Amino acid sequence: MALFEIIYYSHNRRAVGEKSQLAKLREIVGQAQVLNARDGLTGFLLMRDEWFLQILEGDEARVDATYERIAADNRHEQCTIIRRRQIMLRSFPSWSMGGALFTPEQQGVYLQHGLNSTFDPRLLDAQTAHELLVDLQNHETDLRRVAS
Ligand code: FAD
Repeated sequence: MALFEIIYYSHNRRAVGEKSQLAKLREIVGQAQVLNARDGLTGFLLMRDEWFLQILEGDEARVDATYERIAADNRHEQCTIIRRRQIMLRSFPSWSMGGALFTPEQQGVYLQHGLNSTFDPRLLDAQTAHELLVDLQNHETDLRRVAS
C-alpha cells in the first residue's frame, strides 16, 4: 500500500461567541483522533495566530477523502495544499493526530526554522513546514515525558 502525505495551511474562522482557541483545538484534535485511528491516518495539527498548519499521512485514498472533508469544514477557510506526495515512511507514526497551540515555550522551535514573532504559513516552503511540524511533535513528546 503506497503511503501519501498532504501538508496544507488554512485560515482559522472565528465565529461570534466562539469558545477559546485551546478548546477549539482540543475539539478538532479529539474528533480527528477518532476518525484518523479508524482510517489509519497519522499527523500533526498546529494552530497559531489566525492559522492552521496540518500534515496528514496514510493510504492515498483515505488521505484525500479526509482532506476533502477538512477543506469543506466551516471552522476554517482558504485551505491551501503546500505539498502532496508519496512517502516511504511516516514522520508521525505515534500520533493519530497530535496538536499544538502556540505557547512561549515553543518559541525556540520556531526560531530554529527562522520564524520569529509573526507566523504566516503562506510564506513557508514545504520542507520548512514539514520540519517545523516534526520538531513541534518532538517538543510535545518531550513535554509529555516530563509531565508523566
Ligand atoms: P460532520 O461531522 O458531519 O460535520 C459537517 C460540518 O459541520 C463540518 O464540515 C463542519 O463545518 C461542521 N462541524 C462539525 N463539527 C463541528 C463542531 N464541533 N463545531 C462547529 N462546526 C462543526 N477530521 C478528520 O477526520 N481528520 C483530521 O485530521 C481532521 N483535521 C481537522 C483539522 C482542522 C483544522 C479542522 C477545522 C477540522 C479537521 N477535521 C478532521 C474535522 C473535519 O473537518 C470533519 O468535521 C470531520 O472529518 C467529520 O467529517 P464529516 O463530513 O462527517 O462532518
